[in-house]
Amino acid sequence: MIRLSAGTAALLGLSTNRMDAYPTTAYLLSGKSCRMKCSFCPQGNDDNETLKRLGRISWPEYAWDEVEAALSKAESKGLKRICLQSVRHREGIEPLLDIMKNLKKVSDLPVSLSAWIGNDKEAAALIDAGVDRISVSIDVINPSAFEDIKGGFQKDRLELLFKCAERLPGRMSTHLICGLGETELEALKMVDMLLKANVTIALFAFVPLKGTGMENLQPPPVDSYRRIQAGCYLLKQGKADFSCFEFDNERLVSFGLEEQALKDILSDGTAFQTSGCSGCNRPYYNERPGKAIYNYHRALSREETDQAVLQLLESLKLKAGQ
Ligand code: SF4
Repeated sequence: MIRLSAGTAALLGLSTNRMDAYPTTAYLLSGKSCRMKCSFCPQGNDDNETLKRLGRISWPEYAWDEVEAALSKAESKGLKRICLQSVRHREGIEPLLDIMKNLKKVSDLPVSLSAWIGNDKEAAALIDAGVDRISVSIDVINPSAFEDIKGGFQKDRLELLFKCAERLPGRMSTHLICGLGETELEALKMVDMLLKANVTIALFAFVPLKGTGMENLQPPPVDSYRRIQAGCYLLKQGKADFSCFEFDNERLVSFGLEEQALKDILSDGTAFQTSGCSGCNRPYYNERPGKAIYNYHRALSREETDQAVLQLLESLKLKAGQ
């Protein structure tokens, strides 16, 4: 058995659910009840109802044969990538190597893996098994919040990520979640450090989920998320330098660019779309349809881009003028 995100199952014809938006990556989830007990994640819980979710999304379970047949037609459905996510299995990476063997039989799409790995040898074995990119998720940006929320030490996971990035250039990614106790200075410093190590970043906003230890906390303010998102985009595109960013009390107030230059760079709206591996759009992973959108799963309309840029500029001015 394997689980699929509700949108993936609908797109592949395994369910009759109608979605507001469809994914451009097939999202698969291996395992149940993770050995890690991250406070924000439903997969660390033992309650069956809670376990059905990851992010805001539900993940129905299917027999592998059914999924295999559906995935063989994935490209014709417009899918560009497969993302295999996994709880931390007791058996280590063995179940993942088995899944990879089966995936490679039915699809030529590139496969991303987001899973707990213990060392760079495991990462190399997974790449040899056909994985295109591996995400070692840092998730929590502030080191002491990391210890509280995920357990263990952030510096150990960063060391592993950097070692893998050196051994497997261009193959490593990470997930960062904004709104877990970090400041904007900490977030953008982390982004700058990861980009310099050639690690691809997928940025998310914290979502309080029922049944988790953090269900009563608030998601980050959208204007703060926009500043991190824009900063991440500018650094990734080489359009700005972290040393020119200005902060007031660890809140970003300037990217060190003229207003018009900033508007021009952000004018196509790409900065506000889902980031990470190419082809990954994760519709409504962070947001509810009709509510404020943190990561757009598609190209923004002119009006949406103008609104996002205006919100960003206003928030910079507001603080700088205070
Ligand atoms: S960025 Fe997207 S495709 Fe890549 S590992 Fe993360 S969720 Fe999967």
